[in-house]
Amino acid sequence: MSFEIVAKDIAGRIGLLYTKSGVVETPALFPVVDPRRQEVPLEVVEKYFNQVITNAYFLYRLTGGKAVDIKKLLGWRGVVMTDSGAYQILRYGTVEVDPDEILYFQQKIGSDIGVILDLPFDYEEPYESALLKVEETIRRAKRAAAVLKDLDMLVVAPIQGALYTDLLIRSAKELSKLGFHIYAIGSPTTLLEEYKFDLILKIVLDVKLNMMREAPLHLFGAGHPLVLPFAVALGVDLFDSASYILYARDDRIILRDRTLRLDDVKTEYLPCSTKLCYTPVKELREMPKQERMMLIAEHNLAVLREELLEIKQRIYEGTLWEYLEIKARAHPALYRFLKNLHRYRRLLEEYDPETHPDPHGLFFFADTASSRPEPMRHWTRMSHVSALSKKAVVIRVNEKPYNRSWEYIYLKGIIGDRAHILFYDPIFGIIPEELAEIYPLSQNESEGEDEAARARAYEWLDRYDVIITYNVDIPLVNKSVIKASSLEEIALYV
Ligand SMILES: [Zn+2]
Repeated sequence: MSFEIVAKDIAGRIGLLYTKSGVVETPALFPVVDPRRQEVPLEVVEKYFNQVITNAYFLYRLTGGKAVDIKKLLGWRGVVMTDSGAYQILRYGTVEVDPDEILYFQQKIGSDIGVILDLPFDYEEPYESALLKVEETIRRAKRAAAVLKDLDMLVVAPIQGALYTDLLIRSAKELSKLGFHIYAIGSPTTLLEEYKFDLILKIVLDVKLNMMREAPLHLFGAGHPLVLPFAVALGVDLFDSASYILYARDDRIILRDRTLRLDDVKTEYLPCSTKLCYTPVKELREMPKQERMMLIAEHNLAVLREELLEIKQRIYEGTLWEYLEIKARAHPALYRFLKNLHRYRRLLEEYDPETHPDPHGLFFFADTASSRPEPMRHWTRMSHVSALSKKAVVIRVNEKPYNRSWEYIYLKGIIGDRAHILFYDPIFGIIPEELAEIYPLSQNESEGEDEAARARAYEWLDRYDVIITYNVDIPLVNKSVIKASSLEEIALYV
């Protein structure tokens, strides 16, 4: 096995990808470097990243297909991934190379991770030609799969389909059968450029639902801190991007929550504390273009590294969702995505680990709570809970765990087991007394009331003949509810 998972949160994970030149800890980003013209020296890239990706097709053209040692050529000691020229097909329509030949060429130049030459397309491709490209990519993948054992590198198979869900599913299912080391989602770059984050993330979800679950997943061309944590949360492990240099070329500064144009900076310094940003903005503007570009590119690399470290820390803590909440406020498309994620909550519930080695308290917000795996999991568990009595007392208390509150202890002392005591929780709905201490029912703080949780609570209460409430308003339609005005009064009805 070339991939080992060491920690998980939501569908995101920290993993170890074993290559012949060393281990890559995921989630990882491969900065794109260009053997023909590398503007940022690799010694600079190396300060931030241990792995790079380069285009084997350019090299193939450059050398006329003669094998050169890619690491010597680049002067790079770490892991090298190569792409096969698919992106050039996307931009120029064609490449002059045979798919088998470019795969072997990647192996010959000493690539650690190679990609088969797929036929990519962007999201405006008509359905008929998209279908033909998917079929041709699957055919090529089958040919490559037959020689996987003979290749001394990890091989990536790109899953195609763009916004045609049926093609994505077919591609993911077919390619998963072939046993590639890594799967990839091809070319969402145009969507990224247009800030259509929610569409990219939907593609990731559809792929994740249909691909081999444990295999590492690569997302081509995603290199902005806004989209990284969301993609990781859905199960993407690897990224590659030239954003650090592309943005720097036109004076765009990548920040954790947005992109800033140098022209728009009004303050004396950039809002960043990396050492390179100690240069006053006025000086940055006046320095030669090339020199400025280098500084901005290095800053961009530093910010991408910082983002990935934050994501990893969040996965270890089990607070990746809380981090998504923060990031979602940076762009409406991200917020919309997070709110609509409840459509996929079964998948998230299935992937998300129930406990964490070092669990942190969670923060729930009512407008996104129903997308989260924890409330879903609670209701799944509730289907195995039975009514301990035909009488229920529903109370709302502030202290957590609820069963350590003075109200509960006092009430239990008066009524004992004569009624099933249930706590009303604005996010989880009903929490029976016997479940109150299960993680994370007590280990959370919340804001607002989730309507979906309330609806489930009503439905659940249907199983009792008598319902007494205290400190909570439950207007049941088909059942009479007794509202007690004190804890002592409850004893009169049970
Ligand atoms: Zn900086």
